[in-house]
Amino acid sequence: LNSMLKDPSLLVTKAYVAGEWVDADDKTTFEVRNPARGDVICTVPDMGRAETARAIEAARIAMKAWAARTAKERAQVMRKWFDLMMENQDDLGAILTAEMGKPLAEAKGEIAYGASFIEWFGEEAKRIYGETIPGHQPDKRISVIKQPIGVVGSITPWNFPNAMIARKAGPALAVGCGFVARPASETPLSALAMAVLAERAGMPKGLFSVVTSNKASDIGKEFCENPTVRKLTFTGSTEVGRILLGQAADQVMKCSMELGGNAPFIVFDDADLDEAVKGAMASKFRNNGQTCVCANRIYVQAGVYDAFAEKLADAVRALKVGDGLSEGTDAGPLISEKAVEKVESHIKDVLDGGGQIVTGGHRHEMGGTFFEPTVLTGVTQEMKVSTEETFGPVAPLFKFEKEEDAIELANATIFGLASYFYARDVGRITRVQEGLEYGIVGVNTGLISTEVAPFGGVKQSGLGREGSHHGVEDFLEMKYICLSV
Ligand code: ADP
Repeated sequence: LNSMLKDPSLLVTKAYVAGEWVDADDKTTFEVRNPARGDVICTVPDMGRAETARAIEAARIAMKAWAARTAKERAQVMRKWFDLMMENQDDLGAILTAEMGKPLAEAKGEIAYGASFIEWFGEEAKRIYGETIPGHQPDKRISVIKQPIGVVGSITPWNFPNAMIARKAGPALAVGCGFVARPASETPLSALAMAVLAERAGMPKGLFSVVTSNKASDIGKEFCENPTVRKLTFTGSTEVGRILLGQAADQVMKCSMELGGNAPFIVFDDADLDEAVKGAMASKFRNNGQTCVCANRIYVQAGVYDAFAEKLADAVRALKVGDGLSEGTDAGPLISEKAVEKVESHIKDVLDGGGQIVTGGHRHEMGGTFFEPTVLTGVTQEMKVSTEETFGPVAPLFKFEKEEDAIELANATIFGLASYFYARDVGRITRVQEGLEYGIVGVNTGLISTEVAPFGGVKQSGLGREGSHHGVEDFLEMKYICLSV
């Protein structure tokens, strides 16, 4: 990997705590592996609560002066950070692919996507407006100001090693908060590279720390029990989100939760089928099916079911599976053996229930955690895929008859993050977009992520929104001031 980098100093093996590049107090480390090759890239410090507490205290101190700067001054640092991320996009992409597995083109796309949050929120923080409210008594003047919430603790997953942190750190830092990131133990290197560039951009010492650790629950406890932390922002499974929400309750800590999804993708009989196939490919197979907005259940109206299955299978057969660092790869490995086992169990469950494999269905001949992109037909609501996120390259096709059935089936889940549908009839489009109980609806598109729109889920998919002007509110407190004149 080192030889691929134009700037090898972006690949660091120390953690960034309180403005210093350091080892764990007890010198322990853990390994970071390349999922495509299975080899160890390097080791990083395995930190615990004491180091996390130091990062939190440094963030508290640093944010005082940072929050006191003008928004424009903060924005200039954010802008520089954004510029450095884009200037180093190739290197950041290569580091990301090496530790996570997604194809290099996708990894570079993620760097641009992550950086866009740094740029956008740097700009947006200039527009944190308060309010004045006509007083309720003749001598009263009422105003509302918005202030940074305080030190933010962040826990993020491996599937977007850069963007998941950027989406949180962007708004938090831009409005004046201190920020302590604990990246997933599978993918700490992208986070550390972001810290190198933050430092170069002029981010004050201690304001932004990256605590690498293989002891996730210890770090989660420190975030929830340390009274200096005023906000927990988490992206990951609903299961872990529930644990963290429970822990955060003791301190009545504000939480943002981006949790699991179980995205429906509905193809109506009036859809443009070729466009629907393109959308399904983008939504289902991006990141090899390992995103929380990936289509998990594909509902196809009976009249176009067979035609859609055939076209989708053709597109899926054309996907090139391989090492993300090799030219022309469309789908990398899965993140772990456990992930492969889950995919296998979902496929087996469909076959046991009478479904069929149209293409794929097995481990890939490349071995390791590579898996064949798969299309399944004859999938029904009793099967595991209808209630659990597969998080892999499996497209299960369910058949439905009527519009209202599709809405009902799509909503029959505890999750409510992203949903998608393809149709042309304007009445139908209106009814379906309003009927879907989801935080995000893609209509005739399979790609919905952008920094300018509010990303987030309803039901058990989460709390809060990331991106857009709504995204800053999660890192602000409002203060009502009543002045007697
Ligand atoms: P994923 O399947 O994407 O890894 P998880 O919810 O298991 O989803 O993990 C998301 C992040 O939460 C990861 O960084 C993981 O290390 C971390 N994590 C897992 N368990 C806990 C916990 N009990 N407390 C805090 N963080 C946790």
